[in-house]
Amino acid sequence: MFRTIFHLDLDAFFVSVERILDPSLRDKPVIVGGNPQGRGVVTACSYETRKFGVHSGMPSKQAFKLCSHAIFIHGSHKEYSIYSDLVRDILVKYPPVIEQASVDEFYMDFTGCEKIYGNFINFASKLQKLIWDEVKLPCSIGIGSNKTIAKIASDFNKPAGITYVAPGLEKEFLENMPVETIPGVGKMLLPQLQSRGFYKIGDIAKMPADYFLVAFGKNGLDLWEKANGKGTEYLTTQREQKSISSEQTFSSDISSIPYVEKTLFELTAKICQKLRDKELTASTLTLKLRYSDFNTITRSKTIDFTNDEKKVYEVALKLLKAAYTRRVGVRLVGIGLHNFLPLIRQFSLFDDTESKRAKMLDAVDKIRFKFGYPAIQTGEK
Ligand SMILES: [Mg+2]
Repeated sequence: MFRTIFHLDLDAFFVSVERILDPSLRDKPVIVGGNPQGRGVVTACSYETRKFGVHSGMPSKQAFKLCSHAIFIHGSHKEYSIYSDLVRDILVKYPPVIEQASVDEFYMDFTGCEKIYGNFINFASKLQKLIWDEVKLPCSIGIGSNKTIAKIASDFNKPAGITYVAPGLEKEFLENMPVETIPGVGKMLLPQLQSRGFYKIGDIAKMPADYFLVAFGKNGLDLWEKANGKGTEYLTTQREQKSISSEQTFSSDISSIPYVEKTLFELTAKICQKLRDKELTASTLTLKLRYSDFNTITRSKTIDFTNDEKKVYEVALKLLKAAYTRRVGVRLVGIGLHNFLPLIRQFSLFDDTESKRAKMLDAVDKIRFKFGYPAIQTGEK
């Protein structure tokens, strides 16, 4: 039996939220992220800007050149997660299995649910209407027999589209699409595929699987299967987050290392706060350093499970000092934490330093929860 997977993707999500917060932005070209005169990249952009060639991930400066009448905004990241939760709260009532793939994407497994919900296309439009009526967010839905097909389908007819790929027609659906439509075919793989003469997905599908296994290894085989309409049929139900990270691109190259250290400290404090908000601890730390010539260094280290910014920063600072070996300006610094474990509260009977510090952090969390993150700053930087 084939499966019925929905992929629901909120359309230009950040921009849509900004338009709820400020209705004057409606129907206008909006770009979230970066500074038109400075650095940084486009995090999200409205469909009005896309016709000028603007897309997310593009340097904001370049976006400004393409679409100088766009309205640039910094983005209200706290609101994005609030709206994402609102959408999830609506959706969880319907499918037996749901997987939130990112802040604005949900996979839902409706296999065998036709008797309950009726025709899948009608039901998808019902879901769209529900989300629009309740939270005023537009979305597109793709329906297919696996996750890859559903994802490609949701992107096929954006915004506010519904695309249903009937089981058995996956290959035909993909055939004439450019190879970069397949999730995972990015800047690295695309030129390699094109140099071998693969432009359309159908070009890949008609080759023998072995060719891709030999040329690209296991990933190549995976790609060949996707090109043939196959993909993961079961959702990952545990919505566990795998990492938390934060980085800062400087508006001009920084040659003052104390300033980079200060920024690193602030980023560390922020992600540790996020970790504590989720009642998690982490045991792997990754530092990212990018020089002005784009040379990028990442260094990771395993630490004892913690969410204390003081401990994390100590290690991060050591990694930074070891990584910063060139006399070149710094363009970006970032920090990430991975390998999470739920926080187990251990307040010892004796008031040792450890538990005092835990209590102090608890108090900090409470104040920040009430008055916002900047209300209290901790530490020596
Ligand atoms: Mg989206």
